[in-house]
Amino acid sequence: MKNIKDYNLEELKKELMQVEEKAFRAEQIFKWLYEEKVETFNEMTNLSLELREKLNKQYTMCNFNILKKQESKDGTIKYLFDVLDKNAIETVLMRYHHGNTICVSSQIGCKMGCKFCASTGIQFIRNLTSGEIVEQILKVEQDTKEKISNVVFMGIGEPLDNYDNVVNAIRIINNPKGLNIGARHISVSTSGLVPKIYQLAEENIQCTLSISLHATSNEKRSSMMPINDVYPIEKLLQACKDYIAKTNRRVSFEYALAKDNNDNLQDAKELVKLLKGMICHVNLIPINKIENGNYTKSSNENIMKFRDYLNEHGIVATIRRELGSDIDAACRTIKKKKLIKQM
Ligand code: SF4
Repeated sequence: MKNIKDYNLEELKKELMQVEEKAFRAEQIFKWLYEEKVETFNEMTNLSLELREKLNKQYTMCNFNILKKQESKDGTIKYLFDVLDKNAIETVLMRYHHGNTICVSSQIGCKMGCKFCASTGIQFIRNLTSGEIVEQILKVEQDTKEKISNVVFMGIGEPLDNYDNVVNAIRIINNPKGLNIGARHISVSTSGLVPKIYQLAEENIQCTLSISLHATSNEKRSSMMPINDVYPIEKLLQACKDYIAKTNRRVSFEYALAKDNNDNLQDAKELVKLLKGMICHVNLIPINKIENGNYTKSSNENIMKFRDYLNEHGIVATIRRELGSDIDAACRTIKKKKLIKQM
């Protein structure tokens, strides 16, 4: 059965017209789904009984079940959702002073093999559909009764490797009649799929592009992120410059600091050289220790020196607050055994 949440508003209008329903019904359905957050078609009481029956027969609402919920002492909540096909995904809610941020997964597993990521070694199973991405936000809002104000595509998966579904999900999330979250509050993080960065620049979506950079030389970056062999730093940064020129949006660079690997002053100097003149922001992430991982976290002193060097040399840099580390919800610490539901 088709998932009703896979459709953006325009697609749903067309879909309904194909089954001889009026287009305005799509707006009513959107209101029930994303404003009222109902979980059954029967609750959509301003639709005719006949239409509700039609919807029940032809579409699913894709309501995830919560398999597990862990709450950190800092308020972060990590969910394990049953995606209804014997697989499970993780979604994390983080509470910042600027609002609730949700970190969504875009794929079950990942093909990219970044060495610092706990997803490495997880077999890629499939892309999530647009509706399954949107459902993560809906389910968390239903569960907490709190509004999500920011969405980051930084959970499991490479979002731009699931391009069409991710872009469609953003359209639903961003639509004022959908989840109504401003595009500037939506951040798409990529390991650096250069052709897709160019494609995203053409979409006319004002979301934030976030690049997992993590190193300043191709040799080092390739040792951390195999995708760098395909799209090396110079091509990636050119794509970012072109993205900025096309969208007039600031690009965010993620740089996970690992002790004795990429955290010395020379690395900071190289980073300044690479990013000089770009409208950008650097997010420094104290790298998370993962099972069987080769990297360990930099000292706080090194992290602060690194940040200060960047700021003193014209590159705006901040250190990401570590949330949820007591429940393994910090960036990229989701583990294989927790991702795949054993059934
Ligand atoms: S960091 Fe992202 S792209 Fe890299 S392996 Fe992990 S989930 Fe995949």
